[in-house]
Amino acid sequence: MNRICLKRKVAHKYTGAICSKIIKKLEKYKELSSNCWATEAGARKYSGDVWEKLYVVDLDVHTCSCCQWKFFGIPCQHIIPCILQERKNPEEFVQEFYNLDRFKVAYGHVINPLRDIDDYEPAGYLPMQPPPVKVMRGRKQKRKLLKLLREMLEKIKVKYSEVCVSMVMRRNKLAARRKSAKTSQEHQDISCQPSNVEN
Ligand SMILES: [Zn+2]
Repeated sequence: MNRICLKRKVAHKYTGAICSKIIKKLEKYKELSSNCWATEAGARKYSGDVWEKLYVVDLDVHTCSCCQWKFFGIPCQHIIPCILQERKNPEEFVQEFYNLDRFKVAYGHVINPLRDIDDYEPAGYLPMQPPPVKVMRGRKQKRKLLKLLREMLEKIKVKYSEVCVSMVMRRNKLAARRKSAKTSQEHQDISCQPSNVEN
């Protein structure tokens, strides 16, 4: 909501047919185009020469062999000398979706603000639940977890082997404690048995 409002305000400040960011990019390509030499082949086809590397440009189909024009819709540095040879403005070859009118249409709508959540009456439906967790097939990523643990220990300067040893010692200590508790319980049970057998 806030972003759309900001963009709408910015759009009113722009002057010209194309957005200012695109104009800046085009100016950058114009600077780079000083190293490119265009040679006309006829039928609005050119070859752009940049440091002995050739690029094929077709102004009718709006293509350059570097593919930047096709992907981004902004004439690249190889195309600009060809456009200038035809004595035309490179801004005319920028794609239509960068026009300021399109920008104003995209951010022209208004998202109405909402009241506080407490002001709405409950609809009586069950609360929305997250989708069920699906356990995927295959082995669990134990190695990845161990790798992460090692990286964490390296950060706090503790050796992985030391942690392993301490974990094993703790486990053995607990097992010994359980064993001794069990044996003492057995002794108590024997001593509490009735002495009828002797009589
Ligand atoms: Zn190009």
